[in-house]
Amino acid sequence: MRDVTVFQKRHQVGEGTYGSVFVGADKVTGEIVALKRINTEAEENGFPITAIREVKILKALKHDNIVHLKEIVTSKDQGDIPKNVFMVFEYLEYDLTGIIETKEIKLTLDHVKSWSNQLLKGVHYMHINKIVHRDLKASNLLINSRGELKIADWGLARSWNPEMTRLTNRVITLWYRPPELLLGCMRYSTKIDLWSVGCIIAELFFRRGLLKGSNELQQLELIFRMMGHPNTTDWPNIHTMCPLWQNYEPKDGEERLPRRLREELQSRLPTHALSWMTPHALDMFDHLFDYNPDTRWSAAQALTAEWFFDEPLTKPAEKLNMKF
Ligand code: ADP
Repeated sequence: MRDVTVFQKRHQVGEGTYGSVFVGADKVTGEIVALKRINTEAEENGFPITAIREVKILKALKHDNIVHLKEIVTSKDQGDIPKNVFMVFEYLEYDLTGIIETKEIKLTLDHVKSWSNQLLKGVHYMHINKIVHRDLKASNLLINSRGELKIADWGLARSWNPEMTRLTNRVITLWYRPPELLLGCMRYSTKIDLWSVGCIIAELFFRRGLLKGSNELQQLELIFRMMGHPNTTDWPNIHTMCPLWQNYEPKDGEERLPRRLREELQSRLPTHALSWMTPHALDMFDHLFDYNPDTRWSAAQALTAEWFFDEPLTKPAEKLNMKF
C-alpha cells in the first residue's frame, strides 16, 4: 500500500460520515484525485464496518457510471497524528445537488436525459451484480467536466439476494425513500433504488425535490397525496410485505385518495421545462413510481423507456454543454 505522501494534499471538499474528503494531486503524474479519510480514531472496534463494505463493493464494481476507487493509501503514525487510511477516488468537479441549486446554470433537456440515462446504466450494472445502493440521491451523484455522471457514496450499499429477510429498514434519505421502506418492509429488493431514481429524475425536471417530507409520517402523506392510497389491486401483497400499512389504510367510509401523479407532474412544471413532460416522460415516471416493487420498472426496463428514444435523442456525455 502506498503512502498518502505520494499525493500533495490540497483543500477539503466535503465531510463524510466517517471522515473528511480532500482534493489531492499525484506528485509524479499531477493527476487530481479525491482522498476520503477513514477516521479510525472514533471507532471502538477499529475500522468502521461501513468503510469495509464500501471498499469491498467498490473493488468489485467497475463501470463508467460508478465512481472509480483507484487505490487505498495509508499514513504512518507521526507522533500525535495517528495512522490513517484513505480511499483514493478519481476526482469529479460537481455533485448533482450543487448543479441543480445553482440557478445560473442552464440545464437543457439534453442534460436531463443524458444524466438520467447514465444514472440508470450505473444502477443496472450494480443490480445485475447483486448490489443495492440504498442511498441514491442527487448529492451522491457526482459529475465531471466531461459531462459524465458517476454514482458515489457506497457506505450504505450491500450485496443482496432474493432470500434475504430482515434487512435494515432505515435506509435511503427521506425524500428518496420508497413507500415499502416507510411502511416497515424488511424484505425489500433492488427496486428500492428505482423509486429513488424516479425522485432524482423528477428533481432534474423541476430543479427542486419532488417529495420533501421532514419526517417519515409527512413523507408518507406526501406520497399518498401524489400517488394516491395504494390498494391490493395494484399491490396485491401490500399487507404481508408492509407491517405498518394497517396503521395508514383508510377504513370503510374514509376517503381513499386517487392517483394524481400525471396531473401533479404537469401542473408543477417550471416554465423552462413546460415542453419536457411528454406522454413518454409521464409513462416513465408512472412506472418508476409504481407502488408495487414487483411491477415497478427495473433499471433495464427503464433504459428501454420510449422517452430515451424520443427527440432530442439521448446524447453521450461528451456531447453535453458543460461550460457553466
Ligand atoms: P459520505 O459517505 O460520508 O456521505 P461521500 O462519499 O458522499 O461521504 O463524500 C462526501 C463529499 O465529498 C461529497 O458530497 C462530495 O462533495 C465530496 N466527494 C466525495 N467523493 C468525491 C470525488 N470522487 N470527487 C470529488 N468530490 C468528492
